[in-house]
Amino acid sequence: RFDVVIIGGGSAGSVLAARLSENPDRRVALIEAGLEPTDPDIAQPSMWPFIQGRDYDWAYETVPQGGTAGRVHAWPRGRVVGGSSCLHAMAHVRGHPDDFEAWAEATGTRNWSYDRLLPAFRRSERFSGGGSELHGGDGPLPVWLPGEEVNPVVRAYMEAGLQRGVPSLGDHNGRRLNGTAPNALTIRDGRRVSAADAYLTAAVRARPNLAILTGLLVHRLVLEGDRAAGVAVTRAGVGEIVSGGEIVLCAGAIGSPLLLQRSGIGDPETLRRAGVACRLAVPEVGRNLHDHLLGAGNVYRSSRPVPPTRLQHSESLMYLNAADVTRPDGAPDIVLGCVTGPSVSESFAPIAPGFAYTLLFGVTHPTSRGFLAIGGPELSDRPLIDPAYMRTEHDRLTFRRAFEVAREVGSAPALEGWKADELLPGPGVRTAAEIDAFIAKAAITHHHPVGTCRMGADTGAVVDPGLKLSGLDNLSVVDASVIPTIPSGPVHAAVLAIAETFAAGWTDRP
Ligand code: FAD
Repeated sequence: RFDVVIIGGGSAGSVLAARLSENPDRRVALIEAGLEPTDPDIAQPSMWPFIQGRDYDWAYETVPQGGTAGRVHAWPRGRVVGGSSCLHAMAHVRGHPDDFEAWAEATGTRNWSYDRLLPAFRRSERFSGGGSELHGGDGPLPVWLPGEEVNPVVRAYMEAGLQRGVPSLGDHNGRRLNGTAPNALTIRDGRRVSAADAYLTAAVRARPNLAILTGLLVHRLVLEGDRAAGVAVTRAGVGEIVSGGEIVLCAGAIGSPLLLQRSGIGDPETLRRAGVACRLAVPEVGRNLHDHLLGAGNVYRSSRPVPPTRLQHSESLMYLNAADVTRPDGAPDIVLGCVTGPSVSESFAPIAPGFAYTLLFGVTHPTSRGFLAIGGPELSDRPLIDPAYMRTEHDRLTFRRAFEVAREVGSAPALEGWKADELLPGPGVRTAAEIDAFIAKAAITHHHPVGTCRMGADTGAVVDPGLKLSGLDNLSVVDASVIPTIPSGPVHAAVLAIAETFAAGWTDRP
């Protein structure tokens, strides 16, 4: 029996396993469905788009999305030690302080405000620019702000932004977010650093009080009264129970709500339909599912060869106020990205790399909300994932604006030396209806699903502001699922900060 059982050795789980096992008297188990990563491509930053679908990917799919021309969207998720941080694109963007103001409001506590999260952001990072009031200098995760490695076409795009009046920013991870900056990357010496690489170091793994149990599938929680006594797992097909005093669910924005539902915790009607007896009615488990989309893309044929990326293809996100792209303050509404090659959704014929580059575009604060649910009682039953992409008018209008801004930046003088012509959607696409139809076919996930076990002070919230599941004494959820509203940017930095904050607050427990 362990004092703490952590379910899921992904981004959040790696942080918690390392932090909670710092106390040698606390026996910690980290349970992960996948194995240690062995594929050398994982460590190669430029390989990230090509490793999806391999045997360490859960390879989820959404149901057909009415808002995106009825398309089914592939949702990769890591099934490996390090979780989705072994698949992700390595961009490190905390978000805007106002994003966390929304969290503080939702939870009724300043603990989730930017200022209170700042120590956690700093604690997690080892910034290439050194430590400061805003940056951590000696944390586990390298955060590298590249310089001359940034591709020349991406530099031209940043210059094009400046020519359109976009403020110069330089670093996404300060108090301002609007402006031009290269992406800070979790890369060291040319190699990806996953959350597990950063936190589960050889010294941490050598701790006698930490057991990292890989290849264990968690099927359900074992509930006894108002406690979770343990978890029912299979290892190579053989069932066993791992029991613990405290259970912390870190299975991710998809895995965590599905596991709760399989355990009989969720909306009674959803559970009934899946053939699972309801043990604890928590209707919002799986609800509030939301994600960032990116239009892929506004693609240009280049007039000269685009050098291959020395980083991870998508080298600079540009956050902007939709009404006034020159505005430096406030949270953004839209984002552009520049990819060093052609980036298109499956709706379009592939374009050969070498003579093309792409401006991606998207909405930072979508208001569409969907849900996910188990399809049956077993882990092998296919879940129903419906992010309700582009359900709201806000999302459709803001997406169109993002596309228009991409085109404005794409036609600025600084890119003249690169641009031959616009391949997608092509100069013929001009009216609102034509643009909307293009976006519906071009939108792809930015890979940031969140919100399915949202934290909050209200009675509907799945976890309370301390991340404890309402209704059970010893179960917490700590991962991307607890995010109540998505921050402006990629969410990995925020997930690590959530886990760091939770670990720092672990005082009166075993
Ligand atoms: P995960 O890291 O997914 O961890 C969940 C873990 O739980 C996994 O290891 C999983 O195998 C395990 N698990 C789940 N169910 C079970 C079970 N039943 N039994 C046992 N184990 C289980 N974010 C950024 O900030 N920047 C980016 O550039 C970026 N790009 C991305 C690109 C891709 C392709 C993807 C997939 C994600 C990207 N993200 C990015 C998002 C980011 O990686 C995730 O939000 C983050 O890793 C989520 O962390 P987590 O701890 O919530 O879940």
